[in-house]
Amino acid sequence: MDINVGDKLLMKKKHPCGADTFLVLRIGMDFRLKCTGCGHEVMLPRVKAEKNVKKVIRENEE
Ligand SMILES: [Zn+2]
Repeated sequence: MDINVGDKLLMKKKHPCGADTFLVLRIGMDFRLKCTGCGHEVMLPRVKAEKNVKKVIRENEE
């Protein structure tokens, strides 16, 4: 799956605050994601994060 820093991820599983999109802050063995609803940051293992992604939203791509 092609995910870059700065992308937004539409997740299958919503954050407890109700938002379902997360901003990608860091990529590696773990992903660091920031909830776009409440600003909470979470670390997720890559495998787990990718499984949860419904769609990658890339805003700065032409
Ligand atoms: Zn949240």
